[in-house]
Amino acid sequence: MTDLLIRNLRPMGAATTDMLIREGRIVKMMPGIDAPDAAIEDAKGAIAIPALVEAHTHLDKTLMGMGWYENAIGADLRGMIDNERAERRRLNHDPHRQSMRHALALAGNGVTHIRSHVDVDTDNGLAAMKGVLKTRDALRDVVEIEIVAFPQSGLMIRPGTAELLDEALAMGADLVGGLDPCGIDHDPKGHLDTIFGLAEKHGKGIDIHLHEARQLGAFSMELILERTRALGMKGKVAISHAFCLGMEDWNRTQALLEALADQDVAILTTGAPSIEVPAVKRVLGAGIRMGAGCDGVLDTWNPWNRPDMLDRVRIVAQKNNMRSDVDLALALEVCSTGGAAVMGVTGHGVALGSNADLAFVNGETLAEAVAVGGPVALTVKAGRITGRAGQPLMEAP
Ligand SMILES: [Zn+2]
Repeated sequence: MTDLLIRNLRPMGAATTDMLIREGRIVKMMPGIDAPDAAIEDAKGAIAIPALVEAHTHLDKTLMGMGWYENAIGADLRGMIDNERAERRRLNHDPHRQSMRHALALAGNGVTHIRSHVDVDTDNGLAAMKGVLKTRDALRDVVEIEIVAFPQSGLMIRPGTAELLDEALAMGADLVGGLDPCGIDHDPKGHLDTIFGLAEKHGKGIDIHLHEARQLGAFSMELILERTRALGMKGKVAISHAFCLGMEDWNRTQALLEALADQDVAILTTGAPSIEVPAVKRVLGAGIRMGAGCDGVLDTWNPWNRPDMLDRVRIVAQKNNMRSDVDLALALEVCSTGGAAVMGVTGHGVALGSNADLAFVNGETLAEAVAVGGPVALTVKAGRITGRAGQPLMEAP
């Protein structure tokens, strides 16, 4: 692979320099690099940041490019779940095509790593899983996709789902998912014993959606922690949303945060404007790995989210009352290196020896780029240019 020499970039907003990339790594960073055999790219003064990481989304759900979806369901969780299962068939939803569109939109706009939950249920079986696995292979050189086998419709209330999850993991899903053990499944013990059992059987991690708020969510979280400890799964479990950590009971929240840190359970947030969410500074301050994601994009659930992690930085920052330049850098960190840490990616950064997974953003300073910048001017994955001006270089189907 040819070396890539990027001229006139500002690492994290610092003074202008050049960067030489060889075999997917940053091997030199200084002004005036001479590399006659390298391909040359002029960053024109853009700020180089670690690539953005979409650490919580649903590539199998988007309706991008399928016209406007008239949402008649509203915000009832059970209603949204049942509606989606039926609509997949009515709309003739193609999970491979749709996940290609979604993943490429992210990849063209600064993202090099995606963790996607993918629905597994007794109506649609493994169709979504097969489609997204195909996308993961097709985009191997563009964006790394981690797949969570996700029982969106429930596990204990829909017999046969556990067997499908088992099959999905054997097919190549990277993690076992779960969902509101009390609120959806009404059987927290059964639900959690099943997903932890599958994780143990396949030697894979867990990423569980926990929307349950306040004391109910805290109860489920304790059951998750109990099993993480008992099965020696420290560092292999993540909890998405974790709304219960946004509750007012300071002491109860503090005890949970300490237990999460002790078991190295990661937290993933979307900064959802409509509900209390875990506070970024409190979670990071407790020593917990934290990443962020846009969740589902333009699907039967929601007309709001966009496949845009720079926009998500702003949502997370606003939700957490972050305003100072230092705080904006912290919000950006959650949406880049934070997500990478949750996904177990090492060497994610803008430094000598780091992976050449980078995004280049325009702005006078890093904070300006975060607050008003975008689209991402240039995206680089393992030393290859994958996006320009927010658009992927590979065409989506
Ligand atoms: Zn989700």
